[in-house]
Amino acid sequence: MTMKTAVFPGSFDPITRGHVELVKRAAPLFDRIVVAVGINSQKQTLFDLEQRMQWLREVFAEEPKVSVDSFEGLTAHFCQRIGARYLLRGLRNASDFDYEKTISQLNEIVGEGLETIFLISQPAYSHISSTIVREIIKGGGNARPFLPDQLQLPARYNTTP
Ligand code: ADP
Repeated sequence: MTMKTAVFPGSFDPITRGHVELVKRAAPLFDRIVVAVGINSQKQTLFDLEQRMQWLREVFAEEPKVSVDSFEGLTAHFCQRIGARYLLRGLRNASDFDYEKTISQLNEIVGEGLETIFLISQPAYSHISSTIVREIIKGGGNARPFLPDQLQLPARYNTTP
């Protein structure tokens, strides 16, 4: 029997409660979920790769089906390398849909049958994005409501009460 492996790719800059909720809901559907940080040297991130990976490892430490990895280059090629036939992505709104639809159609071709499985985010999480969380952190606001409990921000980002 072949393992049903899904890759959940993203920047995770940083991981949010929205990402965690998605992975937990997807866990019963797959034998293994690889949460994979895509390395894009053109893209400036707030947190470096090692920090983002460490948070992912901490957050999913108790999830036996979940492992953490990173990759450079095309997501579809990474999936082929590790024998994953499925991509996991979340949909929060119509703009996610428009963007994700094109990417999933391309990945189906480039990844030779790679299937993208979409989960629609629950209402309580659909307003959370890493982009907004980064803005709150940079502005000195309290980002805790959006971050997994395990995640400790570096001291320089401690919020003012
Ligand atoms: P990217 O850099 O590829 O946009 P992200 O780390 O921002 O990566 O997001 C990775 C995936 O997680 C995407 O499929 C995105 O739609 C999904 N996602 C992000 N936030 C949420 C959320 N609040 N609820 C559900 N899915 C989400």
